[in-house]
Amino acid sequence: MFSYDVVIVGGGIVGLSIASQLLDRGVSSRICIIDKEATLGLHSSGRNSGVLHAGLYYKPDSLKAKVCVDGARRLRAWVQDRHLPLLCCGKLIVPTREDLDSQLDELAARGRANGAIVHFCDESQLHELFPEARSASGRALWSPTTAVVKPITVVNRLQQELQQRGVCFHVAAQGWVAKPSQQRLLLADGTTINYGHLFNCAGLQADRVAHHFGVGSHYSLLPFKGLYWQLKPGCPIQPRTNLYPVPDLNVPFLGVHFTPSADATPLVSIGPTATFAWGRENYRSLQAVEPAMAASNLALLARQYLANQGGFRRYVHEQAFLALPPLLLRAAQELIPAVRAEHIELSQKVGIRSQLFNHRTQRLEDDFLCVPGPHSTHLLNAISPAFTASFALADLILDEAAPALNLQ
Ligand SMILES: Cc1cc2nc3c(=O)[nH]c(=O)nc-3n(C[C@H](O)[C@H](O)[C@H](O)COP(=O)(O)OP(=O)(O)OC[C@H]3O[C@@H](n4cnc5c(N)ncnc54)[C@H](O)[C@@H]3O)c2cc1C
Repeated sequence: MFSYDVVIVGGGIVGLSIASQLLDRGVSSRICIIDKEATLGLHSSGRNSGVLHAGLYYKPDSLKAKVCVDGARRLRAWVQDRHLPLLCCGKLIVPTREDLDSQLDELAARGRANGAIVHFCDESQLHELFPEARSASGRALWSPTTAVVKPITVVNRLQQELQQRGVCFHVAAQGWVAKPSQQRLLLADGTTINYGHLFNCAGLQADRVAHHFGVGSHYSLLPFKGLYWQLKPGCPIQPRTNLYPVPDLNVPFLGVHFTPSADATPLVSIGPTATFAWGRENYRSLQAVEPAMAASNLALLARQYLANQGGFRRYVHEQAFLALPPLLLRAAQELIPAVRAEHIELSQKVGIRSQLFNHRTQRLEDDFLCVPGPHSTHLLNAISPAFTASFALADLILDEAAPALNLQ
């Protein structure tokens, strides 16, 4: 039997950041992280674009807005201190249709309200930064502080430092049972873990974990798959900055974009798509398909389409089918017309978003949700920019949980 002040379920970037901030605050050193996988970083935290977002997209009163700018600054400094790969390449946002031009003003206003640095560019400034880029209106937004890291390197280093600081890791912990009233977890190998407080940071499974604690019964996960393509190494176009379309602000997806990696010779990815996933961890063809969940989610999406809740039809028409190569290529050409089919290839990288659906409001949740439970705190909807924001998000979660952190 083990006893800890704090147990964290999920060793992705959010769980690791909570452990790190608990240690920094001196709240406790009796901390344990349990993860169902044998190694960390197998889900969103190891499969994302690695972009440290500058905070342009989020409504100023949202949790995302509160933590993105500070989180990006802190994670960037942390990466720099350790000499881990970092590409300080900035980001351009362009409208792909003229009627989307006014959204640039909205993004700039949101960004400035959130404390981000953002500049407007005219066509000649755009082409100085990115000669092959296209803006339908001639205008673009430039975010000079957007950067790119290697996400799996960040996860591995953070885990290593936490181990050195005395955090215990129980990995490969599949099929555990929660006894919330006894503040206890029973692992499948017979181990019992007692806790003072539990943080649920289980990403794609966070809603299921929360339900075991009687929390968030009106939420369920609606996973969206992010497939990536990439520019072939010999491609004559070699972007040195991020290039994003003006997004549909009604849905929490940013649209297919170009992102150079933080490698010494950057590999440029195109994506991720936001297409239907047949299971929460359905990364490859038939792997981890969940037929019952997929059937109910397809029915849910069909209802959303018919009701056109929050302009949902626009998402379906513009983004739902981008897994089809000709449509992906067309989306890429809207940003860089010179890209040809022979320049691109499918990437091995694929991620799945832990997007939550709210059955009460019948809408996709747009913001992070930090929900209290019995001797526990549950982070639901840890979608982008949770990687960027992780240190500041962890602080916010700890502040929320402070009254309940009844540590022995
Ligand atoms: C395609 C894609 C691109 C993205 N791009 C960006 C980006 O550029 N910038 C950005 O800021 N964000 C990005 N994001 C979002 C970002 O990756 C996530 O918000 C972030 O990684 C969430 O971290 P997490 O710790 O909550 O989840 P995860 O990394 O999924 O970690 C959850 C952990 O919980 C474990 N777990 C699950 N269930 C259990 C259980 N029952 N018991 C024990 N352990 C369990 C899992 O094994 C996993 O290790 C992207 C996401 C995707 C999918």
